[in-house]
Amino acid sequence: MYLSKDYFERVKKIVVEELKSEGIIKSKNVEYAILKVPREEFLPPHLRIYAYEDTPLKIMLGQTISAIHMVAMMCELLELKPGLKVLEVGTGTGYHAAICIEAMYRRGVVYTVEYFPELAIYAIQNLSKLGYLDVIKVFIGDGSKGLPQYAPFDRILVTAAAWKDAPKALIKQLSTEGIMVIPIEVKPGVQVLYRITKKNGEVSREAITYVSFVKLRQEE
Ligand code: SAH
Repeated sequence: MYLSKDYFERVKKIVVEELKSEGIIKSKNVEYAILKVPREEFLPPHLRIYAYEDTPLKIMLGQTISAIHMVAMMCELLELKPGLKVLEVGTGTGYHAAICIEAMYRRGVVYTVEYFPELAIYAIQNLSKLGYLDVIKVFIGDGSKGLPQYAPFDRILVTAAAWKDAPKALIKQLSTEGIMVIPIEVKPGVQVLYRITKKNGEVSREAITYVSFVKLRQEE
């Protein structure tokens, strides 16, 4: 009874109110998405009780699902709206991909790439159970190379920390008016969340805040 649907709905609303009062959730569509997507369904059974603790949780293979405030903040920075083509690098559980598509009111498409096949399959199971596979396409591979065959992307979300700068392939695959949100390890042990924007094809970088993500696997 404790972990009933009502219970999850109740605790989820509390988190959303907190994030709104802290100014992390700013827009209607991000609020809608966080309220809509059941984070508990993306967690293994023993972690479900923690679904609405606003903290990252270890899932498997040393990887984590991001904290709710981080998911919300990254989506706000991406300025999601209906009709966009989004690339996510680092599918993990599939939760953030689901939040992105709901923040576009399911109108648009999210391509998401996961390095570990086991995690990609786990994400596909989660997303399939909730009926997302028509609008979220999961790929297995090295997402630091992007998905050239589906480029350009209006938005790129990277959920693992890149070394020194955003991978060149991702900058290249960002559309001429695109926005990318990416954690970057600027020196060993120090990660900064960046928003990289293209305006008429011109690239600019904006540092947002210090963060802590798992490392992005990338070739030297
Ligand atoms: N967005 C996820 C959490 C991501 S954790 C969620 O909502 O649950 C970061 C993920 O990035 C991990 O699953 C890790 O395996 C993956 N990853 C790391 N390097 C990668 C790469 N080069 N290509 C694709 N995925 C990568």
